[in-house]
This record gives sequence, structure tokens and C-alpha cells, in this order.
Amino acid sequence: MLYSKEVISIHNTEKEVFLYLKKTRNHSYRITANKISMTLPSVYKNPETIDKHKNELLEKIKTLLVAQPKWVNTEHILDFPRLTIVNDEYALIRKEEGIYKVELLVNQKKIYLPFLLTDNDKSRLSKLIIQAYHKKIDARVRYINAITTAKTITHVTIKNNQSTWGLCSSRGEITLSLHTLFAPLWVIDYIIVHELCHLEHHDHSPRFWSLVERFYPKYKLAKKFLKERGMELAY
Ligand SMILES: [Zn+2]
Repeated sequence: MLYSKEVISIHNTEKEVFLYLKKTRNHSYRITANKISMTLPSVYKNPETIDKHKNELLEKIKTLLVAQPKWVNTEHILDFPRLTIVNDEYALIRKEEGIYKVELLVNQKKIYLPFLLTDNDKSRLSKLIIQAYHKKIDARVRYINAITTAKTITHVTIKNNQSTWGLCSSRGEITLSLHTLFAPLWVIDYIIVHELCHLEHHDHSPRFWSLVERFYPKYKLAKKFLKERGMELAY
């Protein structure tokens, strides 16, 4: 259940903060490009108790975000000279001003970008990356499925989704966020294993996590990576 929503500002970037109360024993949080989700146990009923734990969590998150160097700001991922997409390293080349078309050259591993990126440029880049990598991700999901849960997979989709890393429907549809493609392959594999395990358990119960652990013994490292550096994987 969504309990509250607010906006905080870090490094001059506004982030929406959502607080959920759920059937869980843990205090947890997740940071994505423009959103912070915090979860507290729903056994907390007293608003003062909830506020106290919320503020503790928020302080922790702020410390973590402020400690990140400024360049980590996700707006700037495309300001680096290189971008890794599913372990393929692309050179990012800025185009002369006046030439505005975004290009993704898969064979040459080059991405041409205008100096100033508009939202249209970003969505064109997203579309090109999804087109170019759908087959590879589809094959990866099906391969990992074959050596783990071996369930029926109907569709594998990549979406420009900022709020989740992956989704899984009961009909065997696996969706990955475009931004997972910028993570190292071992982290992408974790997200895939995580979603595949949801075909067995549709929750985040201890049984779910022990299944994840069976197929991916070091899954906690991947979770840690996403928690600490997940916000870098977006533009
Ligand atoms: Zn999950």
C-alpha cells in the first residue's frame, strides 16, 4: 500500500520518494533514475513510528546519494565516451551541431549523438537499442530459463521502463527494462533469474529468495550493485 509520496532534491535533481507499507519484516529501499521507493513493514500502524523509520531510511539514502560524485547523475550517462550495452562497448561520438539524427551502428560499435540531446533523441536512441538487442536478450532469457526453472516463456519484451528492472506475468511473459541492458552481464543475468523465479513464486517470500539463491548463489552481490549503482543505468 502506498503510504506517502514526497519530492526531495539531491545535486539539484528532484527525486520522487514513495513510501510503501507491505507485509514484510524488512526496511528496504530502491533507487532508480528519478524515483526512490521505500518499504516498511505494514505492522507499523502508529504514524509517529512510521515517520521515525521513514526518516531513518531517508537519511541513509540521502547520505548514499550525496556521497556519489556529481557525474554519477543519470542525466549524464551519455556524456561519457563509452556506453556498454549487454557487454558490447560502444563509442559515443557527438555530432556537429545542426545534424540532429541519433544513430546506432551495431557492427562498428558506434553511437552518434547530437551535442544537445532532446527527449526525442533519447526516445529514438531507446528505440534503436531495443530493436538491436531484442533478439540477444530474448535468447539469453530462454537460455537461462532452460538451465534453471525450465518454464514456458511466451514473450520476452524490452521496455523503456524506469520504475522496475524486470516484470514477469503469470502467462510466461518476461519484460526487462531498457536500463538493465547498461548493467554488466552478471547483473542482467540476475535480473533474468529473478524474473524467471517469479514464474514459480509470485512474491518475494523466503521461498522465492531461496530459489533465486539456488540458481544464482551470489545474487546478493547483484542486488547490491543495483541498489548502489542502479541510478547510473539510465539517461
Ligand atoms: Zn521481484
